[in-house]
Amino acid sequence: MKRWSIVVYRGERSSCKGFSVSDSFLTAGVVFLSLFFAFFAYLAVEGYRNRSMLSHIIRLKMERDKLLRETECIMSSLEKLNTEIQETISRTSLLASLARRPIPDRYTLMMGTGGFPEKMPFHDQTVSSNVLKLKNETEKLKNILAFENKETDRAIRKLREKERLLMATPSIWPTYGRVTATFGWRRHPILKRREFHKGLDIANFRGTPIYATAYGRVTFTGVRNGYGYTVEIDHGYGFSTRYAHLKKILVRKGEYVKRGQLIGLMGATGLATGPHLHYEVRILGKAVNPIRYLDNSPVVY
Ligand SMILES: [Zn+2]
Repeated sequence: MKRWSIVVYRGERSSCKGFSVSDSFLTAGVVFLSLFFAFFAYLAVEGYRNRSMLSHIIRLKMERDKLLRETECIMSSLEKLNTEIQETISRTSLLASLARRPIPDRYTLMMGTGGFPEKMPFHDQTVSSNVLKLKNETEKLKNILAFENKETDRAIRKLREKERLLMATPSIWPTYGRVTATFGWRRHPILKRREFHKGLDIANFRGTPIYATAYGRVTFTGVRNGYGYTVEIDHGYGFSTRYAHLKKILVRKGEYVKRGQLIGLMGATGLATGPHLHYEVRILGKAVNPIRYLDNSPVVY
């Protein structure tokens, strides 16, 4: 069997030391040393990997804590926003009540989009719960805002319609003076027969100003049989008014007039015993008692 000898010299004259090993022993030694170094190399690499993984984990943990703080911050902002939205809701309710709209039922909106789904989106329970809460709250606020916007638009439309109706409703005295005849059956002062008086007579000096009692469009100016010089105004929404026995007409047919606009002067044209205004209010062409349409408007134009 082949043997390997290793000789070691120490100094110039000193004796030399040597030993010999067999081939297989040497091979076993080389293998052992290789394995030994490989094991240490592995340990070194693993140690490095573990160290970098640990720092990665620490970084992730820090980020998670930061994320949690952020979500909590957003949640508290959402809570503040929720309080402000409650204020908006009360205003919308007030607007709805002014517009005489039914106060909307917001119960379902307040409840949000429903409970948590069974599956958590993240492994971490706290992060999952925070993210789901945020999603739920945001969705709820989005729904509330969309609903409130729609409600406000509806209430504004209704209020505008009411405003137009108010503008079209006769609601002021057409002139100043003394009421000499009211709406209803009476004996005609000139014709001397019982007949239905379809308006209100207000007497004053010749030339007393006569005003339109609501917004509208002049549909007639001229002489009407028995009424003398007459102005008729269509106010829309079925309302029309008639102003008769005028001395002078100050508007033209087709003209738009405002409430309180001067349209003529008091006279005694037609069948009249003296200067007075015969004032009629009609709904869909049917004469109604004008007393109900004097000074009852909450709005003054
Ligand atoms: Zn009359």
